[in-house]
Parts: sequence; structure tokens; C-alpha cells
Amino acid sequence: VNADTGAPTIFDKIIAKEIPSSIVYEDDLVLAFRDINPQAPVHVLVIPKFRDGLTGLGKAELRHTEILGQLLHAAKIVAEREGILDGFRVVINNGAEACQSVYHLHLHVLGGRQLKWPPG
Ligand code: 5GP
Repeated sequence: VNADTGAPTIFDKIIAKEIPSSIVYEDDLVLAFRDINPQAPVHVLVIPKFRDGLTGLGKAELRHTEILGQLLHAAKIVAEREGILDGFRVVINNGAEACQSVYHLHLHVLGGRQLKWPPG
């Protein structure tokens, strides 16, 4: 089971482009790329380029509110670019009990099929 150790993650290598990824959106602060193990026809991860302690949403502080807003806005841009603005879901898994596996905050943007609720 992965734990929140604060150590660098695979996402640092994706940000540095040491590991290739399929980028959907990028700006100075945010990177969005396709999940390697997609759970829907559209499954994109939206991450801050500078983690700044945000191993997960559970570590959010007031100083993070600007980047948190930018991540949500980037999720909307991703949905727009992927053609799923009429139906998409944004998920943040926080901690092992929620199946978080990478301890660098990330939003999952999911869509392109009928999604179920509750997610299980
Ligand atoms: P979590 O379970 O932490 O909420 O989500 C982590 C996500 O990162 C998983 O959906 C997993 O498939 C994805 N992932 C893990 N390693 C890589 C990788 O090297 N490249 C890409 N594109 N996605 C990854």
C-alpha cells in the first residue's frame, strides 16, 4: 500500500518530461495528461507543477487556494477540449482508504460514457 511519505513521485518525472505522457493541457502552473490506465473513454489527470506540500487534498492550506482554483478551471478546459462539457466528473482520491496511489495532488477528469453514481 502506498503511503504519504512526501517523497517525489512519478508525476515529477512526467512534469519534467523524463517520462512521456499524452498532454491535453499545460500552462505555467498546471499540467493535464491522459491516465495510463483509463477508467473511461476520457480519463485525464490534472496536477499542479509545484506540489508545495499538496501530497493530497487533505494537506490543503489557505495558501493553496489559488492553485486549487486553477486546477478546477483546468479541469473545465480539459472537458471542453475533450468534448465532454455536457457530462463529466472530477474526482480527487485522498488517502489509502480512498485508493490514492500517487501522493502528488491530482484531479481525475472522467467522461465519454454514462457514469454511475454512487461510484463505489
Ligand atoms: P490515484 O489512485 O492516486 O487517485 O490515481 C493515480 C493515477 O495515476 C492512476 O489512475 C494511475 O493509472 C495513474 N498513473 C500512475 N502512474 C502513471 C504514469 O506513469 N503515467 C500516467 N499517465 N498515469 C499514471
